[in-house]
Amino acid sequence: MPDCRIEAVSARVDRFTPDERTDRPVLGAIRGTAGTLIVDGGASPAHLGAFARELAARDRPPIIGIALTHWHWDHSFGSAALDVPVIACEKTAAGVAIQAAYDWSDAALEQRVRDGLELEFSLPHIREELPDRNGLHIVVPQVTFSESHHVDLGDTTVELRWVGGDHADDSVVVWEPEDRVLFLGDALYQCLWGDPVYLTTTGTRALLERLARFAPVYALEGHDENVADATAYASRLSELHAACRLVEELGDGAVAAAGEDTDLVETIGYLLAGR
Ligand SMILES: [Zn+2]
Repeated sequence: MPDCRIEAVSARVDRFTPDERTDRPVLGAIRGTAGTLIVDGGASPAHLGAFARELAARDRPPIIGIALTHWHWDHSFGSAALDVPVIACEKTAAGVAIQAAYDWSDAALEQRVRDGLELEFSLPHIREELPDRNGLHIVVPQVTFSESHHVDLGDTTVELRWVGGDHADDSVVVWEPEDRVLFLGDALYQCLWGDPVYLTTTGTRALLERLARFAPVYALEGHDENVADATAYASRLSELHAACRLVEELGDGAVAAAGEDTDLVETIGYLLAGR
């Protein structure tokens, strides 16, 4: 699998591709005449630092801040790579503050997995991404908001808006209105803190309602190799709507009604697990 690479999404937006080997998510960079805003702090300073070097090599405007989509480690532990303010909703800042106060030794991390405070899935990824966690500096966001926040980049103003959802109730999307680019973070994904993992119809419907205000030309999900165009994004949302409807109307019969559509069947499975 190739390393993360920088790619242009639109005239104003670059992305750093995800890497599932250590669960590195997509990072974004939105630039205006007044500077560049980074989307997500990344899994480690090495991760965000590599992206920042690629941006510098392309003479992008100075980075003026990092916007977090949610508190999960792979989106927030790399912020210390850059000496700029970290912007997040209050719930995200609280989540990062909890992580920042933890002991990150192997023994403490393993104990948190046993206590259900950390996902077993994340353990090998954290170890590989952050092999030396003795001086690990987890930056607690300094600029916070409750519902929405705007970052003026000169010729474009980026909007951060809380949308919540089952994956993380602090999820925020980042919207660049000129090129119409939407960073979704992990907002549409299932909740991983359950066995089995799950979605709820109420959580999914509320999330879809909050997303309805955005009509992106490009939409980026946290761990998706591909950038969705308007058509792919619309079909992603309509599949979530359809899955909710089928589960509400048919319960267990929703699986049979989904037929051969494997993505729809998977989503229905999460929703059935979340009843
Ligand atoms: Zn996440």
